[in-house]
Amino acid sequence: MAESLHSPIVAKFGGTSVADFDAMNRSADIVLSNAAVRLVVLSASAGVTNLLVALAEGKDPDRRAFHLDEIRRIQYAIIDRLADSQVIREEIDRMLDNIAMLSEAAGLATSHALTDELVSHGELMSTLLFVEVLRQRQVTAQWFDIRKVMRTNDRFGHAEPDIGILKELTHSLLLPRIDEALIITQGFIGSEAKGRTTTLGRGGSDYTAALLGEALKAQRIDIWTDVPGIYTTDPRVVPEAKRIDEISFEEAAEMATFGAKILHPATLLPAVRSDIPVFVGSSKDPHAGGTLVCNKTLNPPLFRAIALRRRQTLLTLHSLNMLQARGFLAEVFNILARHYISVDLITTSEVSVALTMDTTGSTSSSVSLLTTSLLTELSSLCRVEVEENLALIALIGNKLSQACGVGKDVFGVLDPFNIRLICYGASSHNLCLLVPGQDAEQVVKTLHHNLFG
Ligand code: ASP
Ligand code: MG
Repeated sequence: MAESLHSPIVAKFGGTSVADFDAMNRSADIVLSNAAVRLVVLSASAGVTNLLVALAEGKDPDRRAFHLDEIRRIQYAIIDRLADSQVIREEIDRMLDNIAMLSEAAGLATSHALTDELVSHGELMSTLLFVEVLRQRQVTAQWFDIRKVMRTNDRFGHAEPDIGILKELTHSLLLPRIDEALIITQGFIGSEAKGRTTTLGRGGSDYTAALLGEALKAQRIDIWTDVPGIYTTDPRVVPEAKRIDEISFEEAAEMATFGAKILHPATLLPAVRSDIPVFVGSSKDPHAGGTLVCNKTLNPPLFRAIALRRRQTLLTLHSLNMLQARGFLAEVFNILARHYISVDLITTSEVSVALTMDTTGSTSSSVSLLTTSLLTELSSLCRVEVEENLALIALIGNKLSQACGVGKDVFGVLDPFNIRLICYGASSHNLCLLVPGQDAEQVVKTLHHNLFG
């Protein structure tokens, strides 16, 4: 497959796909079954990032040893299944010593930079182990430290890569190797200008794979996870949900943004920019097929899917100054921007504006978005009302804002529920509702049954 070398496939495997020795071997089977796969991007083994985050928080010194043991157990379980394990064991032990040292430091004083340094060990270890799993199958693969090319800014925890530098460095440092060998590298991590380790935000390995796919002009980006593709809604909520075989970038991006956990929301940006299809499948069952996300799909349906995002906060801001005023919203948005808050939904009336912020961290920077300092600043401008525990339900589709009868199809069946807020019309791809958290699943079930049943 000489041609494949020029347009490789980038394959990314998530935490469950590298959780243990067997999972790693299933993922290796997938890699080896297609010669066009030249670059493999890995997450940390399932559970490891969470444990590292707990250590980085440094709160509970008594739990430190427990967390460290748990990480060791997960990684040793893989090493113990390797026939020739001495060298790799020493390497992993060095990493574990490093983790112990950094967690002690975190116990004294935490910092975002220290957290990223600590957390990066998950991906560093999983990639080292995966190379070893391949080696024992007589496959030579090269371990590559992605921090050499994934240059980011220094917003630790949510660092943003510099696409230009990434492209340059990928071409000089990574591309020549890809022609020679199979490369195994880390998702999620990068480095800033001074060389300190950064991370791209939880779930960021998908984004890494897409960025590398873009830089390498890949023919496809394969995201291997534990579900065989993207569904009309979360099958855990609605067991009748159907797999979608092909979906457009726009639709999938809306789904990711509005809470479908399957892809990190930023993943599709590079893919769309460079028009590279993204395949999503399950490494547990690669033959079950999956979903292809691409530029155009045949016969895009009016209703495609329903996404659900829980734990939403609604802010309602009232001010008589809004009456015939100019610049009031600009001031509000300025304050929110200074607090790194991204606004999701917004509706306005004459003297009030209601908006939601995402508290799941998919588009914003942290879990506790509503800080006292934010509320104080807003209160100096207007009266602020806060409602918590709402759920955002996004109906994803095509040409929704041009179609007739959408209102009846959607609201006709939602009689029994309080709809707290509606957003419709800004995008032809979505209609969003805010409902009380406790009604969320029932609303999704009802809508799914009516629109896809
Ligand atoms: N290991 C990181 C996380 O758990 C990144 C990823 O898996 O994509 O968030
Ligand atoms: Mg993931």
